[in-house]
Amino acid sequence: MKVIMLPVGPIEANCFVVYDEETKEAAVIDPGADGKRIIQEINKHDLKVKYIINTHGHADHIGANLDVKNSTGASLMIHEEDGAMLTDANSNLSVFMGRGITKPAPDVLLHEGDVIEIGSSTLKVVHTPGHTKGGICLYNEEVCFSGDTLFAGSIGRTDFPGGSYGEIINSIKTKLMPLADEIIVYPGHGPATTIGQERRTNPFLVK
Ligand SMILES: [Zn+2]
Ligand SMILES: [Zn+2]
Repeated sequence: MKVIMLPVGPIEANCFVVYDEETKEAAVIDPGADGKRIIQEINKHDLKVKYIINTHGHADHIGANLDVKNSTGASLMIHEEDGAMLTDANSNLSVFMGRGITKPAPDVLLHEGDVIEIGSSTLKVVHTPGHTKGGICLYNEEVCFSGDTLFAGSIGRTDFPGGSYGEIINSIKTKLMPLADEIIVYPGHGPATTIGQERRTNPFLVK
């Protein structure tokens, strides 16, 4: 699976375009802003985007859902517990950024254990509440897209509505730390890391 990382928007949320090199089937993870730039990247590689996947419902991760959906016809996926955030400008925090995001609504509500097929690759859905109630990470044997749950050397904020420090620590320890050391972690903000690096050095986990 090929991974293109595009930091987008004023607070540089990482958008990822992932695709199968042979079939050109693709998914866009967290198109938070800069729809035009994301679409340019899709067109440059001649990709067929099947899915838009939101790791959670915050504005900085969903802001270009509409642009990408309109241009690709992809189906929009988010965990069922964050689904309502996509059409509620208060709960997705977009009112505080002067935007007011209320569409599009999700096409598919995801659950723990769902498997998303992208060409010959797959991404497994793991429910990791704590930053939001319906936060998810997506992983396979090579990569893990960790949203705002796990960052290089840090973890997501837990002071927004639906957040819980106890839950985010539990999610990371029980759902992500069992993954293999060499898996590359692509967080929702900041640089990539690995599961092993975080297990050994992340100050929120080393105790
Ligand atoms: Zn967030
Ligand atoms: Zn974020």
